[in-house]
Amino acid sequence: MSSILDYSLEMENFPTWTEIVEWFLALPIHFQVLLVIGIFLIIAGSLVLVYYILKGLFYLLKAVAKGLKKLFTNLYYAISGKTRPGEPVYVSQYPPSSKSHQPSEQSLSPKIPRQSGGIQFCTECGNKITKKMQNKLNETGVVYCVFCGSEIIKE
Ligand SMILES: [Zn+2]
Repeated sequence: MSSILDYSLEMENFPTWTEIVEWFLALPIHFQVLLVIGIFLIIAGSLVLVYYILKGLFYLLKAVAKGLKKLFTNLYYAISGKTRPGEPVYVSQYPPSSKSHQPSEQSLSPKIPRQSGGIQFCTECGNKITKKMQNKLNETGVVYCVFCGSEIIKE
C-alpha cells in the first residue's frame, strides 16, 4: 500500500484514482458530503448547461435556416422579377429541348428537304405555301390553297 502511495505521490502532476480516493477519505465527513453534493451539482449544472447550449444552438440554426430560406426566397423573387423576360425563356426552353429534342429533330430534318425540294408553291396559282398550310399538309397529307382553293397533295 505504501509503495503504491509512494509511486502515486511521485506522479504529482497526474493524481491517480487511488490518490484521489485516499485524499477524499482523509477529509472530514461533512467535507465529503459537501464534495459529493458539489460534484453532483457541477455534473447536473454542466448537463443543464450543455442541454441549453444545444437547445440554443438548435434554435440558432433554425433561425439561421429560416433567415437563409427567407433570404433565398427574396433573392429568387428579386432575380426572377428582374429577369422575368429571360426566366420563362429558360423555363420554356429547357423542358421542350430535352423532351422533344429527338422528335423535333426527326420532324424537322425530313421537313427541310421536303420544303426545299418538295411543295413550296401552289401548283395552281403559284403562291407561296404558308406555314399554316405546310403544317396541315404535313399533318393530313392534303391541304387546300388559301389563295386559289385548289387541293395540294403531299408528295
Ligand atoms: Zn393556289
